[in-house]
Amino acid sequence: MYDYFIIGQGIAGSVMAMRLLNARKSFLVFDTPQKNASSRVAAGIFNPITGRRFTTTWQAEACFDELFKFYPEVEDLLEMDFFHPLPICRIVPDAGTSNDWHSKIDDPINSPFVNQTTDIVSGFKSPFGAIELKRGGYVDTNTFIDGVAALLKRLELLIEDFVFPRFNTGHADINGYKTKSVIYCDGLGSQKSDPFDALPFTPMKGEILRIKSPELDRKRIVTAGCFICPSKNDSFLVGSTYEWRNVNLEKTEDAKKELVRRLDKYIDVSYEIVGHEVGIRPSVKDRKPIVGTHPIFPDCYILNGLGSKGVSLAPYLSKILLEHIENGVELAPEIDLMRFKR
Ligand SMILES: Cc1cc2nc3c(=O)[nH]c(=O)nc-3n(C[C@H](O)[C@H](O)[C@H](O)COP(=O)(O)OP(=O)(O)OC[C@H]3O[C@@H](n4cnc5c(N)ncnc54)[C@H](O)[C@@H]3O)c2cc1C
Repeated sequence: MYDYFIIGQGIAGSVMAMRLLNARKSFLVFDTPQKNASSRVAAGIFNPITGRRFTTTWQAEACFDELFKFYPEVEDLLEMDFFHPLPICRIVPDAGTSNDWHSKIDDPINSPFVNQTTDIVSGFKSPFGAIELKRGGYVDTNTFIDGVAALLKRLELLIEDFVFPRFNTGHADINGYKTKSVIYCDGLGSQKSDPFDALPFTPMKGEILRIKSPELDRKRIVTAGCFICPSKNDSFLVGSTYEWRNVNLEKTEDAKKELVRRLDKYIDVSYEIVGHEVGIRPSVKDRKPIVGTHPIFPDCYILNGLGSKGVSLAPYLSKILLEHIENGVELAPEIDLMRFKR
């Protein structure tokens, strides 16, 4: 009898698996690798302050403390290189926004993440200046997930199969394997089948471009209506769109044009488009992650709803979920899945 099964090995399942390994739990991971899985398409950026309103991520200090500990530890264990801390340069779009953002940079919730203000951003037009954030960067999510998968395979802990656990009194089973507890890290898989299909997922399609531009600085991430993030093979990822009406895996000319329009507004050097990808984010109606225990099956847990912030949220959420399961530590009501029961 295993302590745990994990369903899904995207960012959430990979992070959860490394937590269980570290906690010396016995477990199996079940996953169907998909090229278009959200975690495979993601730019992997962790950015503490996002959006036009200069909004700090939920529990930013705790999340960023945890991610700066978690990913480098996994890098060391796997002897791989996928964690890339970099400054994030936010170009100010206009005078009104400049006033707004400058009034927020000394706020104690934002100030730990603000490095400096600057006027010139090489390779970009920045007539209203820019604000440089610290504690940002990106995770090469494909290298991270492949590295975790290789380790799990070596330890015979990964089974590549699309599965539906059966719940019995005191245990669950999959293909003859038995466990005490199941943790669902299956992204939008949860939307389609028991036992979490009643949760209010609002899948969010995202398209992203890959460009090459030898003149651009690779030692920072720039956000300017879109993000421009260094990536593999000397390329940059430019993204991304948010589409909740026509949610499918088709790449569209409209999304490509929109990203090019946003990029051209600020970029001041030539570039070539070399790729275009699409994925669907596992987002939730209230834009908060979902963590917790199933209200009817007490041995069934979820880590999901990571939306556009899987890389920043997963290390901290996996930690508190394990403390919740093992030690009964209460979850914050705003992320607890029980919020949907009221
Ligand atoms: C264009 C785009 C750009 C993005 N950029 C960023 C970014 O810069 N930074 C960031 O943090 N986030 C970003 N995201 C969001 C990020 O991708 C998600 O937050 C994250 O990938 C969610 O991870 P997950 O593990 O919950 O889900 P998924 O990646 O969907 O993984 C779920 C896994 O479970 C498997 N699965 C499902 N059901 C079953 C089953 N029954 N049996 C077996 N396996 C199953 C699936 O095959 C899949 O492998 C982006 C997303 C998109 C689309």
